[in-house]
Amino acid sequence: MFGGTFDPVHNAHLRVALDVVEQGELARLHLIPCRIPPHRGDPSVTASERLAMLDLAARGEPRFVVDDRELQRAGPSYTVDTLASLHEEFPDAHLVLLLGTDSFVTLPQWDRWQQLGERAHIVVMARPDSPLDAPEPLRDWLQGRQVETWSALRDHPAGCVLFQEVTPLAVSATDLRERLAAGRSGRYLLPDAVWEYIRDKGLYGAGGSAG
Ligand code: ATP
Repeated sequence: MFGGTFDPVHNAHLRVALDVVEQGELARLHLIPCRIPPHRGDPSVTASERLAMLDLAARGEPRFVVDDRELQRAGPSYTVDTLASLHEEFPDAHLVLLLGTDSFVTLPQWDRWQQLGERAHIVVMARPDSPLDAPEPLRDWLQGRQVETWSALRDHPAGCVLFQEVTPLAVSATDLRERLAAGRSGRYLLPDAVWEYIRDKGLYGAGGSAG
């Protein structure tokens, strides 16, 4: 699973997700927008707009599955609950949770974070400008969990951590929202269909003359 606020989904999300799908030879990757992100302010656009943008972005890549289970669930979107729900639906699958380094280092602030390793493997993707500065509880937790290869990951049902090289792309949704609010273009940072959707609906202050 690849969860996020996706406010909006951008090309770096898609490229690093595809890198992991290819490297791990994953059958599919569920892109899961969160309903209420527990650790940040409310998203800038509605949940259905974030979902619509993900649908447009994932179109054409059959291994990407846009999954709205967190939007259907009341209350904050806790990843441990999402993994439980995925396990219920796919009891025989080995689940893998994808996280950029910036998210990974915040794990100790997540609800029931130590249970994540009981439910899934974690694959950490290096993100430019986000050094892997793990806090002590996370460093302790990592002891004995780190593996170097996908085949080592496959030997266990859950609980391993793999640091996966991905295409380094310094694109962020925060930067995009700021650009759009300043009247600049989102072109080439977002899939064309997502950029058109944002412009048509005037999301994030976009519209006007930005091409
Ligand atoms: P924001 O700037 O609003 O925080 P974001 O660009 O970080 O947004 P999210 O939806 O918060 O996007 O991120 C979802 C997941 O994608 C997180 O695990 C995050 O670390 C990862 N991610 C986002 N952008 C990149 C990137 N450029 N490289 C690697 N991972 C990324």
